[in-house]
Amino acid sequence: TPNVQPAIGPKSVAAFERACSLMPGGVNSPARAFGAVGGSPLFIERAAGPHLFDLDGRRYLDYIGSWGPMILGHAHPEVVEAIVAATRRGTSYGAPTEAESGLAEQIIEAVPSIERVRLVNSGTEATMSAIRVARGVTGREKIIKFAGNYHGHVDSLLVAAGSSAATLGVPDSPGVTDGATRDTILLSYNDVQGLTETFQQHGQNIAALILEPVVGNMGCVIPTQDFLAAARSLTETAGTVLIFDEVMTGFRVAYGGAQQRFGITPDMTTLGKIVGGGMPLGAYGGRASIMDQVLPAGKIFQAGTLSGNPVAVAAGSTTLRLLKQNPPYEQLERLGNRLAEGLGKAASDAGIEHQVQQVGSMMTLFFNKHPINNWDDADRSDRAKFAQYFWGMIERGIYMPCSQFEALFFSQTHTEAMIDQTIIAASEVLAAIE
Ligand code: PMP
Repeated sequence: TPNVQPAIGPKSVAAFERACSLMPGGVNSPARAFGAVGGSPLFIERAAGPHLFDLDGRRYLDYIGSWGPMILGHAHPEVVEAIVAATRRGTSYGAPTEAESGLAEQIIEAVPSIERVRLVNSGTEATMSAIRVARGVTGREKIIKFAGNYHGHVDSLLVAAGSSAATLGVPDSPGVTDGATRDTILLSYNDVQGLTETFQQHGQNIAALILEPVVGNMGCVIPTQDFLAAARSLTETAGTVLIFDEVMTGFRVAYGGAQQRFGITPDMTTLGKIVGGGMPLGAYGGRASIMDQVLPAGKIFQAGTLSGNPVAVAAGSTTLRLLKQNPPYEQLERLGNRLAEGLGKAASDAGIEHQVQQVGSMMTLFFNKHPINNWDDADRSDRAKFAQYFWGMIERGIYMPCSQFEALFFSQTHTEAMIDQTIIAASEVLAAIE
């Protein structure tokens, strides 16, 4: 049985105090601060396989996996070896390398929609660039996004809080101007009728429709097949560029991403996380006729000093090679089903209203009576119960996403015994929830 320990150790607490005097909120990306569950974060010293080790020497079973990238487990020896070897040859040249073509080939072979690809440094860069390219090739200005879908901190995409009706976007953050979001149309996920009506009204003016083909960023929300099919056919008819943001789902829900899993091929795809093997790397790609309009083949500007960085490319390329050679997807599916079933049973036994939504190794336990199909559904979840669950799991050495509105991820190094240990811990924690 898992041993119960105080939530955050003294060294992490001290480290956070120091960090808060140096960096805004003590972190370099907000979700890490544990703000949504009202606490102070663990400071990590190292990681190996499925485990994180904090400053206080405690070990945690990791269900965040760096928010997605670590599908092979932390510090996979071959990935580490590739990074070290690349580093010895120099960390950046600002000139082309053959390794970039190697990774490009792997991506093109894996992802059905990608014929040409451009490497960038993050998921945000990938979506920002894809939107620009879609606008550039169509000569149109409007874009559609869905409430509760996150595409990085791109100004025009920082519009998420919303109603189920089609509304013109209102920015989520100070500093994002009305001008930057004026052309963003916000719709409700899985709403075929709203989507159809919007295309009837604005179709000829819509440059791009961007969506998460399994949502991770309002918790795990699964598209209906009708919704994806409608997105495909409406955009095709209107001459709109359909962009699947597969930063989370790429190489996660299947090697070829959600587009392979659901059999729907978009015009463009954005990638991040796994494609960089834990290093800063993203990518966007699509049909050659679209991508060949990007500079210097075409006129649409997009560039990066560190893009195609040799160390990041080595990590990404090695990760994809290992995933292809020894696909973990069946095992991840089986363990994902086992965890989903176990968490659901634990919640039922505790008399807690809940939904477990899962695709393979991505899932969320929602403290919510009703199935979650869109942001309005997700928003009705019980955040206070979630926070109790989160801290109870931390006390038992299990590191879950610190928000109801994030999906958990696990890796190929997570074993059946670890999954079962997680279910036991969840049973204890859920039984104690008020
Ligand atoms: N798109 C999706 C679907 C994401 O989940 C994320 C990050 N969580 C991003 C884009 C942005 O990626 P990054 O944080 O690397 O900029």
